[in-house]
Amino acid sequence: MNDHPDLSPVGRPARPAKGCGDAPVLHQRGQHEVFCGLTGIIWLHRKMQDAFFLVVGSRTCAHLLQSAAGVMIFAEPRFGTAILEEQDLAGLADAHEELDREVSRLLSRRPDIRQLFLVGSCPSEVIKLDLARAAERLTKVHAPHVRVLNYSGSGIETTFTQGEDACLAAMVPALPETNARQLLIAGALPDVVEDQMVGLLERMGIGPVRVLPAPRADGDLAVGSETVFALAQPFLGDTHAALVRRGARHIPAPFPFGEEGTTAWLRAIADEFGVDDATFEAVTAAPRARARKAVAAAAETLRDRSVFFFPDSQLELSLARFLTRECGMTALEVGMPYLNRQVIGAELDLIAEGPVLSEGQDVDRQLDRCRAAQPDLSVCGLGLANPLEAEGLTTKWAIELVFTPVHFYEQAGDLTALFARPIRRRDLLKLGVPSGGIEPPSVAPGLRPAATGEVAR
Ligand code: SF4
Repeated sequence: MNDHPDLSPVGRPARPAKGCGDAPVLHQRGQHEVFCGLTGIIWLHRKMQDAFFLVVGSRTCAHLLQSAAGVMIFAEPRFGTAILEEQDLAGLADAHEELDREVSRLLSRRPDIRQLFLVGSCPSEVIKLDLARAAERLTKVHAPHVRVLNYSGSGIETTFTQGEDACLAAMVPALPETNARQLLIAGALPDVVEDQMVGLLERMGIGPVRVLPAPRADGDLAVGSETVFALAQPFLGDTHAALVRRGARHIPAPFPFGEEGTTAWLRAIADEFGVDDATFEAVTAAPRARARKAVAAAAETLRDRSVFFFPDSQLELSLARFLTRECGMTALEVGMPYLNRQVIGAELDLIAEGPVLSEGQDVDRQLDRCRAAQPDLSVCGLGLANPLEAEGLTTKWAIELVFTPVHFYEQAGDLTALFARPIRRRDLLKLGVPSGGIEPPSVAPGLRPAATGEVAR
């Protein structure tokens, strides 16, 4: 099954008669339920092999990282927490001096570290510890061997994907200048997915292709006015702004989720580099066919079902586009933490009018809307999933979508299956199928110990 309007032979998506580009947006502010931005460290530390993430936070932050990353059984993890004790929080000790001491100790023990990120947290922000000043001071001490940068992963006002955005945005001003014409892709993808992406682009003759974040600080990543860039993740608004400030030009596109999204993303880049239709077709035809087949196989369960998105991952609009156009679902509400039209505008144009679009959250009012709508599937954060399940609603954890490889053609079937699995489980429960025939509840792979074999990002 594949319900989306067919792509033209050259891979440009057909727009609905009336999309959501001009649709009204419900803006809400109130209590919100989102996950903390420190979470991004779990996948970022695996992508940057000479980086260390030092969270300046509390024992709570250390516990979050430890449990989200799994038990670190190997000797040299590349993240840690400098714990602010009560005397720091009460202003009785000079936290800057202690931080300098900790950093010196860490760097003398770990000469492999070339980039050190000081990551702010709720406690460091509450006591107004100036980590930007600390990073500047420590860079002077430890340059040129180590570059010290800072960003905030605080959960006070942010969502869990903003940690990655803040980290990448912090790296951009420190990148060397280049006048070379190049394509830069921003966004941390699992290595296997990144290789697929670069392979597709290079087979079309597009290059050189650079990726942010690069695996090592001494690589050839640079930026300048001849750089064009595409985002691989829809939550990179600050990174987008930082790259534009460096003179780079954005290639707006839908995001590479599903067969159609992947094709449209590649097509936008191919157009920028003057790739002809025949080459585009030759490179994409086979993986597109595989992706369509995989989506069709998994999407049977989703056809004519409804979905309600609570704001959490900032992937919501892209996923709503994928589920409505490629899987035959109806979106009732698409809630997103922020609506950045420069980044996500191309998705809005592809979603047919109908769903409520909401930005921000007043969680009680949104829960009321969800209960009234009785969707077949609610995509939400961990904190809302259990209560909604207890009320008889079927849920999907948004965080799973970031911990699981879901981008590009070869993962389109897995992406579909992530949404189909909880609905199938609920259907089986309704039929009274014995528990032996029911799949276990899905668990975010990144939340398991590393030894259980999640794909490294
Ligand atoms: S940064 Fe804030 S929300 Fe995140 S673990 Fe630390 S205290 Fe909790």
